[in-house]
Amino acid sequence: MLIYNLTHEELVSFVTEHQHKKYRADQIWHWLYKQKVQSFDEMTNLTSDLIDLLKANFEIKALELVIKHLSTDGTIKALYGLTDGNLIESVLMKHHYGNSICVTTQVGCNIGCSFCASGLLKKKRDLNAGEIIAQIIETERLLGERISYVVVMGIGEPFDNYENLLKFLSNINHPKGLAIGARHITVSTSGIVPKIKEYAHMGLQVNLAISLHAPNNEIRSKLMKINKAYPIEEVVDAIRYYLKVAKRRVTIEYILIDGLNDSKETALELVQLLKGLNVYVNLIPYNEVIEADYKRSKTETMEAFYDILMKNKVQVTLRKEQGHDINAACGQLRSQQL
Ligand code: SAH
Ligand code: SF4
Repeated sequence: MLIYNLTHEELVSFVTEHQHKKYRADQIWHWLYKQKVQSFDEMTNLTSDLIDLLKANFEIKALELVIKHLSTDGTIKALYGLTDGNLIESVLMKHHYGNSICVTTQVGCNIGCSFCASGLLKKKRDLNAGEIIAQIIETERLLGERISYVVVMGIGEPFDNYENLLKFLSNINHPKGLAIGARHITVSTSGIVPKIKEYAHMGLQVNLAISLHAPNNEIRSKLMKINKAYPIEEVVDAIRYYLKVAKRRVTIEYILIDGLNDSKETALELVQLLKGLNVYVNLIPYNEVIEADYKRSKTETMEAFYDILMKNKVQVTLRKEQGHDINAACGQLRSQQL
């Protein structure tokens, strides 16, 4: 088993059950999360029998870098091979306030949104927590710098891999782990209603983003077949529920597609739908993918959409994209050697 799959408590139990002192777990986590060593032999303050015990029970390496693409804006797309040969991608973005990474949670995605490159690959399997953590650790090593922001917006639907997602969040947030502040982490979901409600009770300070992309069922069902299972009224109800229970603002993601969801009427309908909710809308210029027929909205249309939301007192931003030249922008992630 990958050692990054253990929580700190689980590692403490493991070492104490094997007649080692509890503080050894802290030392091991220090090597794993602070020093980011690539072998147990590098854990030089452990006894040799503890190193042997770790080697007999765990693996430390989850990923192998296959290709690294560097964008002109500094964005890095890393293609990683998992130990079973599957390929995944992580994207590192540089901002003035620090480095952020977009991590993958599944090999492929079963939600199958019609506009998304990731959804074209049927899900082969879930990633385990350690494989998601390893994307941050490997990419930090690649970069030689600390990563302080995480978005769970790569390939996959995080709420369709719920237990692993929670363990991942807990280990990267843990002060003895990667110590990434919960408010620096954002999880994005396509709107799996029961999971949004469950997640509301977790008491996490992690940001939640919901991919809405439309103000009504007619448009949303064209874009996201999950809307048949969880129609927009149920998604909005779940958002209301989350706001009440978790008392944290929700981000609404809304990609702008030419002639589909970008009209003035649609903007006004969105204003109505979100009225009174503590949300902020992140408008995302659509990134065209070869297999889909959709086009990005015109700049003036996106600005007009933005203005309508602003004028109607909906908090809104128009996302600036990164990594477009290397197909690393949203929805362009697909595990192949491009
Ligand atoms: N499965 C989750 C998280 C990964 S997708 C979800 O759907 O929320 C992360 C974000 O990228 C989502 O808001 C998604 O709708 C958006 N996205 C997907 N394809 C895109 C594309 N081609 N252009 C712009 N954004 C896209
Ligand atoms: Fe899956 Fe999200 Fe892409 Fe939809 S947008 S197919 S849920 S990764």
